[in-house]
Amino acid sequence: MRIVLLGPPASGKGTQGRAIAAQMGLNYLSTGALLREAIDNRCELGLAAEPILARGGYLPDALMEPILGEWLVRHDDKNGWVLDGFPRSLGQAQYLDQWLSSHGKKLDMAITLAAPYEDLVSRIRSRVECPDCRWSGKTDELRDAEFCPTCGGLATARHDDSEENYKNRYAEYVAYTLPVIDFYREAGSLLSVSANGTREVISAEIFSHLAAKS
Ligand SMILES: [Zn+2]
Repeated sequence: MRIVLLGPPASGKGTQGRAIAAQMGLNYLSTGALLREAIDNRCELGLAAEPILARGGYLPDALMEPILGEWLVRHDDKNGWVLDGFPRSLGQAQYLDQWLSSHGKKLDMAITLAAPYEDLVSRIRSRVECPDCRWSGKTDELRDAEFCPTCGGLATARHDDSEENYKNRYAEYVAYTLPVIDFYREAGSLLSVSANGTREVISAEIFSHLAAKS
């Protein structure tokens, strides 16, 4: 099973992506988590990405495509994968399409999580992440209001979560990722799911479609 997740920033892609990957035994890539980790490590990629992400920008295709290509070499096994954060532009979608067809493979489903802008903005105000294991979620999911529920690390607000930054990321999403959603809709592989509701309700809807597909 090969799946891409496409909703706007803060629509819950990470949560749903991890749930799908865990349930179905798929490899999971969050390009956002990978880049935040690169920034923490001060490596070359992190240094290039930091100023762009700090203003809520998208990284150029020329930077993202080799990252995905490398990841696929290591993780495209018989089980498949879930990608969260790639493709973010039409160019990246075409890159992935080409990679798949040149390996005799195909995408099974593109899932988009739909939510009104105002709901998304209010979500980022309570969003936290664990710097140790990269868990991310809401403040009310923390253990003793401070600690990661997965590994017990001290959770922090995400670097990229300020309202100004969010506005910019959302504008990038509208400009670059909405065309990707149309691309998959036309290809007949799009599933659009409402991001309103508990994570369990959203997961259940996604799984019912995946079960029908597999
Ligand atoms: Zn953790």
